[in-house]
Amino acid sequence: MRVTEIQRFCMHDGPGVRTTVFFKGCPLRCRWCHNPETQSASQQILYDAARCIGCGACAAACPVGAHRVGADGHVYDRTECTACALCAAACPTGALFQAMREMTEEEVLAVVERDRAFYGEEGGVTLSGGEPMAQPEAALRLLRMCKDRGIGTAVETCGCFDPAYVPALAEAADLLLWDFKDGDDARHRENTGVSGLPLMRALIEADARGAQSVLRCILLRGVNTEEAHYLAIAELWSKLRHCRYAELLPYHPYGGAKRRLLGEADDGREDWIPTPEELERARDHLAARGVRVRDLGR
Ligand code: SF4
Ligand code: SF4
Repeated sequence: MRVTEIQRFCMHDGPGVRTTVFFKGCPLRCRWCHNPETQSASQQILYDAARCIGCGACAAACPVGAHRVGADGHVYDRTECTACALCAAACPTGALFQAMREMTEEEVLAVVERDRAFYGEEGGVTLSGGEPMAQPEAALRLLRMCKDRGIGTAVETCGCFDPAYVPALAEAADLLLWDFKDGDDARHRENTGVSGLPLMRALIEADARGAQSVLRCILLRGVNTEEAHYLAIAELWSKLRHCRYAELLPYHPYGGAKRRLLGEADDGREDWIPTPEELERARDHLAARGVRVRDLGR
């Protein structure tokens, strides 16, 4: 499995206390992504200049001369970098670090099992990312291993994966945390790179197979904070029999700082953060149409 990290004691990735496994690789390119280091399925090196002490260990370790440390400070030329990660291994301060770890399902399970005493009836493991179902065999095997051990399973998905895996996913996951990003499909394509229609169909199919779900709806001010989008959420909700509630997730520009660590421009947008009034309006629109809403922005 290609993972970026495993976070323990998570409280917002499904019910109860959870261990969240972040998969690396996603078929979407959402402009608002808050985990941009999970988009590419390949290894990447993150560099945090604030932690660099200018020791030059990276320059000594790099076989292609991608690091230079001199009077003008530390320069990391990513055009030369092959992501071999030798510099990250040599860096004494953690200023350079790898985005990806390759682990077996057994190794991930061992981490998940450490906290099983805290999961109780509701908690367990959540597969997130990135898109966990972009590595479908590994994701499903890990889910089944957890289920066999009595550990609750949830999967956070954008729905963009081979639909042939929907039945197996519906069976292996106790709960699907399903993103619904935009009811306007032209805008969905423009902002994510793909149509949202097949993603919605996959959720409807999973629901028909009895899969429990939560609709996760990111709200971006001036992008999808409009009545037509709320109507689309309500329409999708009306087609689902096993959806527990819709969760409103106000955009936050976290991803911008991570883009900087990847050597890219900070694309965080303060103007996309919805106001409390907009969140209230969204909540009221949905509630008026019979959608059960939970609002993390409250
Ligand atoms: S990842 Fe490898 S090639 Fe890239 S800068 Fe580090 S040592 Fe050099
Ligand atoms: S090894 Fe780490 S601390 Fe030393 S110069 Fe390179 S990035 Fe900075």
